[in-house]
Amino acid sequence: MRTIIKNGTLATASEVFRGDILIEGEKIAAIGGGFDETGAEVIDAAGKYVLPGAVDVHTHMDLDVGFAWAIDDFYTGTVAAACGGTTTIVDHMAFGPKNCSLWHQVKEYHRLADGNAVIDYGFHGVFQHVTPETLEEMKEIAEKEGITSFKVYMTYDYMLQDDELYQVLKAAREAGIVIAVHCENHGVIQYLRKYYTESGCTQAKYHPLSRPSRCEAEAVNRMIHLAAMAGDAPLYIVHLSGKEGLAEVRKARAEHQKGLGVETCTQYLTLTDAMYEDPQEGLKAIMSPPLRKDADREALWGALADGTIDVVATDHCPFHFKKKKAEKQYGAEDFTKCPNGAPGVQERLMVMFSEGFMKGRISLPRLVELCCTSPCRMYGMYPRKGALLPGADADLVLIDPEKEHVFTASDIRGDSDYTCYEGMKLQGDIDLVLQRGRVIVKDHTFLGSRGDGRYLKRGKSVLAE
Ligand SMILES: [Zn+2]
Repeated sequence: MRTIIKNGTLATASEVFRGDILIEGEKIAAIGGGFDETGAEVIDAAGKYVLPGAVDVHTHMDLDVGFAWAIDDFYTGTVAAACGGTTTIVDHMAFGPKNCSLWHQVKEYHRLADGNAVIDYGFHGVFQHVTPETLEEMKEIAEKEGITSFKVYMTYDYMLQDDELYQVLKAAREAGIVIAVHCENHGVIQYLRKYYTESGCTQAKYHPLSRPSRCEAEAVNRMIHLAAMAGDAPLYIVHLSGKEGLAEVRKARAEHQKGLGVETCTQYLTLTDAMYEDPQEGLKAIMSPPLRKDADREALWGALADGTIDVVATDHCPFHFKKKKAEKQYGAEDFTKCPNGAPGVQERLMVMFSEGFMKGRISLPRLVELCCTSPCRMYGMYPRKGALLPGADADLVLIDPEKEHVFTASDIRGDSDYTCYEGMKLQGDIDLVLQRGRVIVKDHTFLGSRGDGRYLKRGKSVLAE
């Protein structure tokens, strides 16, 4: 099948220009103009921006946290993603049973995602204990499964100790694998959570106080030094939220540390801890790290504009508000019992387009770089994904910048019963989404079907070069 996208304004990570796209089968065949229209389906994109499909490299579909499951599975979560212009995800695996092989969760995630996801998907592996066997399994999984990135946690039950983090980084450096890390100082957070709950301070507004920005900064700093000691191991800091952590990143950049990638998420750029003031509504935004202050938000926008931060992702991990977050046995009476996580996979691209590009905080190429191209370079999917180039998968999103849209929970196409962006006025709206040459979203309606997504074996990250 041939398709021609005509008269659009194309946006890549480096330029914006008028042009047509010729699609043959699942791939972009050519970019230019004057293509022969005989037998082709022609889509008129006049007045629209045409971007590579957005790529979200930080989601948690089907996440099992023991006492609660995230509400979106690989079907509903990827439908939401598609409706928001995201055509590829790389999902972070949950922890498996204690002492399990690293293969355990790889198999479990294929079981959850294969035949269910509607857009193309990959997985990040996860470490929950470090032994010679698990270090070896990391290399095997990278080779056989194309899972070329693994996550480590510096907090939570399966956090790694410094000696373990160092061993993982060394092994990853040798194998050219990226280590993604959740940076927060565990000891201080544990103490503060106990301190606040024992003092009767159990409302949502104490959540950010129990996880101060300097806890993140301390852990970011420690991880940067551990990676440098391991020979500039490829290190990717997930969901950076605060200006103190950002200062540590800036220092490492100034010292030209190699192989360092940094991500923030939509919510840290657009929302603040004022959301926690309402004891009920505040539970919607219980996530870790927590939302920060206006000054943090502004610092992060500055870091997007000047290139210090590489990627905007979501950490999409919604729990049902009424049934999980706000119930008595969970968050209603104690923020420490509220499952951590919020929706965002559908909202990201249009919130970033409206708040970032339309408000003049970042250019359109920079938006494309942060949401589409750079995630693929970081995680070994470029140029198959995230690029408007001949030979790339024809994953495209068309945006109408003239349309205004007030986002509410009723717009959510996944299973979440709320959005953190309730009532946000978005300048610009999604017109069409194509996945490998096929229209999968039109008029905010999903037109694809369960299982249309394909598993992506990923290659080497630019961080590992
Ligand atoms: Zn996460």
